[in-house]
Amino acid sequence: MVVDGRPILAFCSNDYLGLANHPDVVAALQKAAERYGVGSGAAHLVNGHSREHLALEEELAAFTGRQRALLFSTGYMANLGVIAGLLSDGDDCFQDRLNHASLLDGALQSGARLHRYLHGDVDSLQKKLSKRSRESTALVATDGVFSMDGDLAPLSQLSVLCSQHQAWFMVDDAHGFGMLAENGAGSVVACGLDSRQVPIYMATLGKALGTFGAFVAGDEELIELLIQQARSYIYTTALPPALAAATRASLRLVQQESWRRDKLQSLVTRFRQGAAQLGMKLMSSKTAIQPIIVGESEQALAMSEALFAKGILVTAIRPPTVPKGGARLRITLSAAHSEQQVDRLLSALEQVA
Ligand SMILES: *Cc1c(COP(=O)(O)O)cnc(C)c1O
Repeated sequence: MVVDGRPILAFCSNDYLGLANHPDVVAALQKAAERYGVGSGAAHLVNGHSREHLALEEELAAFTGRQRALLFSTGYMANLGVIAGLLSDGDDCFQDRLNHASLLDGALQSGARLHRYLHGDVDSLQKKLSKRSRESTALVATDGVFSMDGDLAPLSQLSVLCSQHQAWFMVDDAHGFGMLAENGAGSVVACGLDSRQVPIYMATLGKALGTFGAFVAGDEELIELLIQQARSYIYTTALPPALAAATRASLRLVQQESWRRDKLQSLVTRFRQGAAQLGMKLMSSKTAIQPIIVGESEQALAMSEALFAKGILVTAIRPPTVPKGGARLRITLSAAHSEQQVDRLLSALEQVA
């Protein structure tokens, strides 16, 4: 990045595969803008839904192994739309304590009772599920890869619990889609689960895909229900068609260029080995998200500023985004980084620590 005219090496973007600046993706956006213009002009259900949106929805459904997919303008809106569209007063929503804010907000908006279980803890969820009255509709929602910690949810065990308790199961795969499984199809495919075990799959397009927007994929009935009931789908302007075209180009690269995931993995290994040699405490994450927990907000800010002075950008993430005492440098790696750049980060961290 260039910040105030100064070149800066950034380690806090979610552009994990380096696709946000890919020439094919940029060209697809430009070409489609020439054909369709910039704005979609209206909501999907009015006349904002174009050929590019339809094609992208079909490709996303096929890629994730589901009958249908539905585009939303952002991930935040997708989560609000799904949860508030499926649940209402008297229902129950169960969520991991470390879920993304948009999942929590969806539950709050729905009017359902919100139960937060201990992070990644299947027993804690089981206890809460057993206390619910069987008449209510229940939905369990979890991040697939946790956004601030980088670890994976125990999806297989959670899906078993959900079917035992007749609860909907929803996975927000904002940080797994494009990244996990052989072809990048995400955490649910990587765990060998299908749409019976995880009926509601949501992912964003602004992270590994490098563009913008989000989608929900599932069975025909789910998608039709969302089209009728997800207010954040119905009452908002559709994504620009050119963005859908750009995302289609990006989706092709995700599938064809598995070297991006391989390269990222080798950078993650290099970073973790280097950090361990420096005696830094890492979390048990194998993904591109490699946080260093600092503790107090002031200290995290000071470290971030000291890194910036050395030409490296890692913003400090503080409460309430993360729990009290859990302020951190949320370092993220990308296939667009080189080994030398990772080494530069390590030596800057050594000096700053
Ligand atoms: C980023 C993110 C979202 C929100 O997606 P946007 O498209 O940025 O609105 C939702 N869930 C998780 C886990 C995220 O990391």
